[in-house]
Amino acid sequence: MFDTPLARILDSRKLCDAQQQITGSIAVAELDGLLSYLESDAGKVEVTLRFQRDERRRPLITGRVEAKGVEIICQRCLQIDAQDLCVDLNVVVVLDESQAEKLPAECDAWIVEDGQLNVRELLDQELILSLPIVPYHVDCKVETQYGDAGAAQQQESPFGVLASLLQKD
Ligand SMILES: [Zn+2]
Repeated sequence: MFDTPLARILDSRKLCDAQQQITGSIAVAELDGLLSYLESDAGKVEVTLRFQRDERRRPLITGRVEAKGVEIICQRCLQIDAQDLCVDLNVVVVLDESQAEKLPAECDAWIVEDGQLNVRELLDQELILSLPIVPYHVDCKVETQYGDAGAAQQQESPFGVLASLLQKD
């Protein structure tokens, strides 16, 4: 299902009018922006895009974007962590900034100036927004210099510091 390479440019308005669905995949290596946040170009992005018109006849793209096996540095152990990034897409296609500003707050706009949707730019942007702010292994086993995470919190407790100051007096 995701074996088809994704087209670079799509005519989003035509696809919305025809209510088309497109599936395909691209390599993470093809997304320059996302790549700058990652440790390697490993991974593959599987994409399902549904083109339609919303109740106000605005061209709408929904769907799912999954980047599998991207390599991010765990901020706890500083080793590579292979993660999956997942985005539920929901953007209204507009022609310029002024159209984007007229959209209700709950709608995300994607500007396609000449009607030609650059699919990679859209995926790149959406995946960057889905990156964890502080990435770490879900099951990170690293020990800090204080031992495990619980012990580290005890060591850094302000009450502990206060107790040691009082003892000096
Ligand atoms: Zn880790």
